[in-house]
Amino acid sequence: MAYQHIVVPDDGEKITCLNDPACVPDHPIITFIEGDGIGHDIMTASKRIWDAAVEKAYGGKRKIAWMEIYAGEKAASIYDGDYMPQETFDALREFLVGIKGPLTTPVGGGFRSLNVTLRQVLDLYACIRPVKWYKGVPSPVREPENVDVVIFRENTEDVYAGIEYQAGTPENDRLAAFLRDELGATFFEGSGIGIKPISAFGTKRLMRFALRYAIERGRKSITIVHKGNIQKFTEGAFRNWCYEVAREEFPEQTITEDELWSDYDGQQPDGKILIKDRIADIIFQHMLLRPTEFDMLVAPNLNGDYLSDAIAAQVGGVGIAPGANIGDDVMLFEATHGTAPKYTNLDKVNPGSLLFSGVTMLEFLGWWEAAKLIIQSYERTLAQKVVTYDFARQMEGATQVKTSEFATAIINNMDA
Ligand code: NAP
Repeated sequence: MAYQHIVVPDDGEKITCLNDPACVPDHPIITFIEGDGIGHDIMTASKRIWDAAVEKAYGGKRKIAWMEIYAGEKAASIYDGDYMPQETFDALREFLVGIKGPLTTPVGGGFRSLNVTLRQVLDLYACIRPVKWYKGVPSPVREPENVDVVIFRENTEDVYAGIEYQAGTPENDRLAAFLRDELGATFFEGSGIGIKPISAFGTKRLMRFALRYAIERGRKSITIVHKGNIQKFTEGAFRNWCYEVAREEFPEQTITEDELWSDYDGQQPDGKILIKDRIADIIFQHMLLRPTEFDMLVAPNLNGDYLSDAIAAQVGGVGIAPGANIGDDVMLFEATHGTAPKYTNLDKVNPGSLLFSGVTMLEFLGWWEAAKLIIQSYERTLAQKVVTYDFARQMEGATQVKTSEFATAIINNMDA
């Protein structure tokens, strides 16, 4: 495909399919969106680290061919005010894998979140957040090493579907009248109204993906998180549909908590993934008090959103929590924090969230050695107490460095 502003690197090859390392050539073209605000600083630093790790892990045999694509303020400056050009979607569909920095979204008016747009247009239905503690990272809890969960959050439905009507508008008036007159609903006059759709289709494909991931990575359990005690036909249905997928499509690989006790006397048999469910509010408490009981969490969009940030805080916060948005056709890895505009171009912030999103990407590509090398040298760097400002304020005797210096320290530690 011919692009207007995107330059396709001539030293790379296309990744031909997802979820199969055999489809990843030695010089894969990977797209990146730099991001607004601190995006430039963290993307520049992270690319240096990813490239160094790939070079060292494979002795130069493998190399990523980076291809810049545009969204947000940088796109607007290049594409005559267009914040989300069509060719960004085209390139992601053609090259399948991308990684992005944060993008600005104005609160309350202006345009719709670019992040939500990307997820919905590309149907990136699974938001995956691996949350794990790395040695040396300052944490507010006593035993952060006990947290090691992968959260699968549904990414396209729920109250994020954008079906919302402002109070006082003709659309709101019509919907309110329908709800009251036809369905007998009661609610205060002048309410804003939002609709929360959750479907069998959207739920089942997420659970199917989570189950395949659990099987491939040898994970032990999946906990379905929901508020089905209150929202029976959305959150409750989510729970039921998740169990249905496990029961009907993965009967050999899964057992429920009831079966664990009725058939196995409470001892989880090898090779079986335990499927259980918990109400959304209690899971926050469980994750703080008994995190070792949880391995993978599957949640609808809004609860998954809250839960992801809360659990990330236990292992050091959004400054280092990685994320990925994945669909059947495209994988887009991303920093989970925002653009932190006050730090723009100060070469100051922690690149950890984007860096570890890239580590997750390398793992999905099957480049495990490079991923491992980054984790090891990151932990060595933290053990030396060489950190950016955010960790420095939580660590005694730390050496505070710039984003770029932190990247250099990690790269140097790859040789240790
Ligand atoms: P934010 O950009 O995440 O920043 C909030 C605070 O978090 C920062 O002031 C900083 O705290 C800390 N922080 C964030 N990233 C950090 C990093 N890499 N290293 C160290 N500390 C970091 O949240 P926001 O101010 O609410 O949002 C700003 C803009 O980002 C908004 O337009 C929002 O819509 C957008 N946003 C985008 C995404 C995305 O693209 N996925 C996600 C969330 C928000 P201290 O100043 O206390 O050190």
